Amino acid sequence: MPNILELKNIGYSYHNLHGETKALEDISFGVSEGEFVAIVGPSGCGKSTLLSIIAGLLTPEQGTILVNNPDGSLHYPRIGYMLQRDHLFEWRTVYRNVTLGLEIQKKLTPERLQIIDRLLEEYGLDKFRDKRPSELSGGMKQRAALIRTLALEPQLLLLDEPFSALDYQTRLTVSADICRLIREAGKTMVIITHDLSEAISLADRVIVLSGRPARVKREMPVKLTLKDDSPLAARNAPEFQDYFNKLWEDLTHEN
Ligand code: ADP
Repeated sequence: MPNILELKNIGYSYHNLHGETKALEDISFGVSEGEFVAIVGPSGCGKSTLLSIIAGLLTPEQGTILVNNPDGSLHYPRIGYMLQRDHLFEWRTVYRNVTLGLEIQKKLTPERLQIIDRLLEEYGLDKFRDKRPSELSGGMKQRAALIRTLALEPQLLLLDEPFSALDYQTRLTVSADICRLIREAGKTMVIITHDLSEAISLADRVIVLSGRPARVKREMPVKLTLKDDSPLAARNAPEFQDYFNKLWEDLTHEN
């Protein structure tokens, strides 16, 4: 698979009255189409900054991002963003929440609304379209947030700790569920997580960042024998512990 995105020697610093905070240094890696990449690293190392650069919200000070679409076109992939909280608005119904992205972008076309109807049905939310977000479970809220994101037909999904607001047990099932739906939709995904088990069970490759300024410390492809069953089953794969130990070692031995 060719890389649809290629980061080359990316560097970034924040500047304010107190001086400079160097967040990223010489970061290079690629993301291929349909791949799931997890980014892990110590708190405050620069993970969100890196995601903002990939999203095009920040411009790198050093380095370049190359785009290489499979059809040869040069447009930047359409990006979908999922954040730590589901950001559903309580004053809107579930339906008016999932259509909000389209409304803002003035893309409420019959075709797009049809996609939303199909996803609501597929994701078991059809019956809840006139409910308020507070009437949904944590997992259903994340599904609604995913529909709102997918309705904009992104090619690349960026997830910044999307499950961290959920309790541990809900998080296990919801993260597996959401990632299965993203795989079925054929999307490419870059996810930030501080949960090493989550990274191993969900991603095809884990990128470990060093402490700030973040550099790539390790790129670890993940191949688990039980991955086809589900990300939950993957946690019981014989290789799992080995991957976990490697990542743990990287994160606890700063050099
Ligand atoms: P992470 O996502 O890994 O926790 P961030 O990318 O949010 O890390 O932040 C990396 C570093 O940059 C941190 O030290 C943080 O304090 C600093 N930083 C983040 N945003 C800003 C900002 N707007 N201005 C100044 N410093 C910032």
